Amino acid sequence: MADWVGSCDRVLEVDLSRRTTRVFPVSTEDRRRYLGGKGLALRFFAERIDPGLDPLGPDNVMAVFAGVVVASGAPCSARFSAVTKSPLTGLTASSSCGGPFGIALKTAGYEGIILTGRCAEPTLLEIDETGVRFLDAAYLWGRDTQETQEALKLGTKDGALVIGPAGENLVLFANIASGHRFLGRGGFGAVLGSKKLKAIVARSGTARYVPADPQGFEKTCRRATAYIHRNPFTGNLYRNAGTASHVDLCNAGGILPIRNFQDGCDPHAPQISGWTMRERFGAKPSTCRPCTILCGHKGTFSDQKIRQLPEYETVGLLGTNLGLFDAELVAVWNEQCGRLGLDTISCGGVLAYVMEASEKGLIPSPLRFGSPQGVSEAIEAIAFRQGLGDDMAQGVRRLSEKYGGTSFAMHVKGLELPAYDPRGSWGQGLAYAVANRGGCHLSATLFPLEVFLGFLKPRTPKAKAHFVRFFESLYAGINSLPTCLFTTYAYLLEAPIARWTPKPILAWTMQNLPAVAVRLMDLRVFTRLFETMYGVSLSPAEFLRAGDRIVVLERLLNVMEGVSRKEDTLPERILTEARPCDAADSGSKRTLWRRLARLGCPEPAPSAAPPPLLALDPMLDAYYALRGYTRNGIPMKKTLRRLKVSMPTHGGFAAVPDRAVLNPLVIRVFFMLLGRALQSASRMDDVFRRELASWPEGFTVLFKVLPFGPRMALRVDGRKRLRYLGDTLSEREADLTIGFKNMETAARMLTARLSTVDGFAQNRLSVVGDLAAAMQLTRLLDRIQSLLYPEWIAKRVVKRVSPMPMAEKLWKRAWLYLLGIPLGV
Ligand code: SF4
Repeated sequence: MADWVGSCDRVLEVDLSRRTTRVFPVSTEDRRRYLGGKGLALRFFAERIDPGLDPLGPDNVMAVFAGVVVASGAPCSARFSAVTKSPLTGLTASSSCGGPFGIALKTAGYEGIILTGRCAEPTLLEIDETGVRFLDAAYLWGRDTQETQEALKLGTKDGALVIGPAGENLVLFANIASGHRFLGRGGFGAVLGSKKLKAIVARSGTARYVPADPQGFEKTCRRATAYIHRNPFTGNLYRNAGTASHVDLCNAGGILPIRNFQDGCDPHAPQISGWTMRERFGAKPSTCRPCTILCGHKGTFSDQKIRQLPEYETVGLLGTNLGLFDAELVAVWNEQCGRLGLDTISCGGVLAYVMEASEKGLIPSPLRFGSPQGVSEAIEAIAFRQGLGDDMAQGVRRLSEKYGGTSFAMHVKGLELPAYDPRGSWGQGLAYAVANRGGCHLSATLFPLEVFLGFLKPRTPKAKAHFVRFFESLYAGINSLPTCLFTTYAYLLEAPIARWTPKPILAWTMQNLPAVAVRLMDLRVFTRLFETMYGVSLSPAEFLRAGDRIVVLERLLNVMEGVSRKEDTLPERILTEARPCDAADSGSKRTLWRRLARLGCPEPAPSAAPPPLLALDPMLDAYYALRGYTRNGIPMKKTLRRLKVSMPTHGGFAAVPDRAVLNPLVIRVFFMLLGRALQSASRMDDVFRRELASWPEGFTVLFKVLPFGPRMALRVDGRKRLRYLGDTLSEREADLTIGFKNMETAARMLTARLSTVDGFAQNRLSVVGDLAAAMQLTRLLDRIQSLLYPEWIAKRVVKRVSPMPMAEKLWKRAWLYLLGIPLGV
């Protein structure tokens, strides 16, 4: 048995293609900067991927990490996080899950696991203290998530990650299951399916995790538990009625999605709320373990089957957003999605889009708002990609691009919108617009402050950017401990100055002095859990700074995929359409208030006019300024320096990106310098003369940055010398084309940060034409680098520095720099 203080700091990397593994340590510096969980997963993911890679190809990477708080016994400490490139959005996706896998992985002796490559056949990966086994999973392929977990014969402390048919069939919003919890949003299941990995089993081992400061840790846990018990959300609402208790609050606040976000409240909504489900089906805890809040429940349904009671997002997207208010139906579809491995938010978003598109005559489908007819069949068809289900499996964005109706395609950056309508919660709208993984309610939650607690006015841009930035960084930090985000309800306002300040004063401060208000938030429970468990100090400021770093690194990865301000937006419907529930005295609103009045809610005074449309631009400007981004949403160099975020590159973190170097103009200048240097060297260097002797007159070589970047060409003349042609040659005219994968690759190679050999080895360079000539050209490039650079630089990028007498080297270098490059001789 091994006792570790906080973490074993061991990361397991598995190459599925080669069936090899390696274990490496987490450095103290990485731990301080990225904490664990999401942060470390992102950090190791970032250095292993290249922009533009296919999320369903073998090059995609998935990193799954636990953290310092996992397996410590702290309240709500069963979480673990995963990061990959999403096939749904084409951007970085992260997810947090409360299943048993995280604790099992840690007790098997690993902090995290990184998956690269792809298996040839369906495979089951089994991890335990003795190592890793690649097992045949043909017998599991085709089984749903529950059957698969049963077939794996898991011990009580083992944990597994499994996919269902949706993941196997590469549905772009397929989930991964762990117990009855999921790594959701963005298609984690499809990524595992593309790697032909049906399941990863972590067999619990004997590793034990002890706190660095047992007394301090015990005291912090007691404090955390007391806060959770006395908070009305964590100690009452969620514990008794689950997150589906949001239905009543969102309905009253006008942010409950109704019929594909066509309205924001409905008088029938209370039929489907958490409290109603508790009354109808009973509610026994069915939660992540360990958990002190206990938000998950099971109930007994009319067919006497015991099912998980659906959470709020599922109720909203598979219920009210389809115009349906039958909790029993939603629970059955929730179970069906879970077994098939489908994300309920995206699935509900897709169904709602198809219902509206079909009502508008854009798609031939029997699905209609308010009718359960065909819903279950459609869910099945999505998972198995049959008929229209094949298109539905691609998500709302691609559906709307194919069939039309982009104005009511409810997604951000390709990720379907969660169940809070931003027209009644503008801060939540900003959070959706800038969330790195797309339409996400868990990157920052402002709806509780705007709608549930009344601390912020919901329909004003004022102060929202401060709180979005604060919650983004806080949540990134919490997901890197990791612990449950719901604990924020309990811990945040416990500082005496916030706890004892009268609510109206606190609300005024939040609305008018947000920079002061965020400093009143108490983060010490989070930081003390880390400090006392791991034995490394972490101040609240450092904790938030780590969160900042994680958010900005994630943004940087998205920027490298082409994301900028124009992608930070909301669906057209949200920005341009008012809803019936916004009308001052709409019939639906009057009926709603009458019904809510019967439940004891006071009826508000009628407003004179409908509220204004959501003003996104001023909030974006303020948010970018706070984050240290340009007005176009790109992290500024000084921001990256401040946070010590470096440009992620394949094989390591390189220097902070110099945007000027990435500028096509600068690449053109470098191409010109290289072209002239090659031309000049071919006139006076023996190695050049020997290599070029075999090239025919008129042979042309083209260097280009793919796909449409700068280019430079050279031609062999009658005296077997190279002639620099500038950028006039097309690819069709070239005998040999060397393609740089992207601007970043070209910048690194042209500035001697990546060798030609490594460029080919890492698939960053492509060759079209004669391979023998390409080899000769590689030797010429090595030679010119030996001539141009001092030996200490040349050694880094050239396989073998050409031996040359010093005098010869000096006059040739002088010739190149003084005559060859400036004058082209
Ligand atoms: S509160 Fe809910 S989501 Fe959070 S750890 Fe507990 S059961 Fe899991």
